[in-house]
Amino acid sequence: MVRHVLGISGGKDSAALSIYLKNKYPDLQIDYYNSDTGCELEETYQLIDRLESVLGHITRLRAAEGSPEPTPFHHFLKATGGFLPSPQARWCTQKMKLAEFEKYVGDAPTISYVGIRGDEEREGYVSTRPNIQAIFPFRRNIWSLDVINKILNDNNITQLKEIYQKVCPEDLIAKAIEIIQKPLTKQFFYSKKLNALLDLDIKIFNQAVFEYLKTTDYPVGKLDTFPLLDNEDVLKIDEIYQILEDSGVGIPAYYKEIEFEVDGKKGTYSRSRSGCYFCFYQQKIEWIWLYEQHPDLFQKAMEFEKDGYTWNQGESLADLIKPERIRQIKLDAIKRQELKAKKKSSSLLVDLFADDNDVLCANCFI
Ligand code: SF4
Repeated sequence: MVRHVLGISGGKDSAALSIYLKNKYPDLQIDYYNSDTGCELEETYQLIDRLESVLGHITRLRAAEGSPEPTPFHHFLKATGGFLPSPQARWCTQKMKLAEFEKYVGDAPTISYVGIRGDEEREGYVSTRPNIQAIFPFRRNIWSLDVINKILNDNNITQLKEIYQKVCPEDLIAKAIEIIQKPLTKQFFYSKKLNALLDLDIKIFNQAVFEYLKTTDYPVGKLDTFPLLDNEDVLKIDEIYQILEDSGVGIPAYYKEIEFEVDGKKGTYSRSRSGCYFCFYQQKIEWIWLYEQHPDLFQKAMEFEKDGYTWNQGESLADLIKPERIRQIKLDAIKRQELKAKKKSSSLLVDLFADDNDVLCANCFI
């Protein structure tokens, strides 16, 4: 039997995805889970509780259960000798989230739904275990990169042609074959070929992928039917907020923009992502938000910095909160906000601060 799972990170996108799937595909039996580091913001735990009242049970996974340490993070930090995680040494996600997720899933073929939005140009990292397949329902292309690379590979042209001959209506087949037969080049790479087939017809492309997956070990290929093959929705940021508002769950409180003033100039700050309060991925202005809005948590984050280990490369939190440094960080944030606001249509701070190049771990931030 194929399992369907969805990780609730505490962020807006996974929350919206869970509600969206429940409403649109009520027959899908999805198991919801959250991997708890013990170090999330209180607002995150509140969001998960509110979601539970809409979705039903959410399994809370907690690594190092039974450890005498106060949180899973403390447990693993001790085991590493106080070596703080960083983007280059991200042991925290591996130990507290991915390992727990893989244990939870076991060996069963599993489809993991991931809330990367239709307006994002990034992949969501889930797991490389072959029994776990990621699906991205908010995007025009619901399939993961590895699937696309296999199906559109030049070595697969003959098989894909045969599949299209089975699933494609007559009026589109000539055009489809023309696209499929065109070999990949620098100018016509995977994304271009993919978009050409999606432009032709999304549902037929999805049907073709489904037929292809039946010849592989991918979990979706083991299903008799897959309702998302008909999904042509592309959900962007505004729709995500709408789903959260309409459901009564609301937007996580830490996204709320709070005004600050420096040198007579006004700006706003908030937290842009879910995850641990000390997450090293947060920007300097988010650290200042934490310092001013959750001073107790900032203090705790500072206490982890010892023996030369710091959360930010080259700057301790003690240095970060010196008055002149705070002033500079706030001025920089105002400048960046102004610049990005000109470029992007969304005016929400959380989106303005998002870094388009990140490969986000689905378990922490999505
Ligand atoms: S939120 Fe940040 S610190 Fe926490 S587990 Fe994820 S990457 Fe690590």
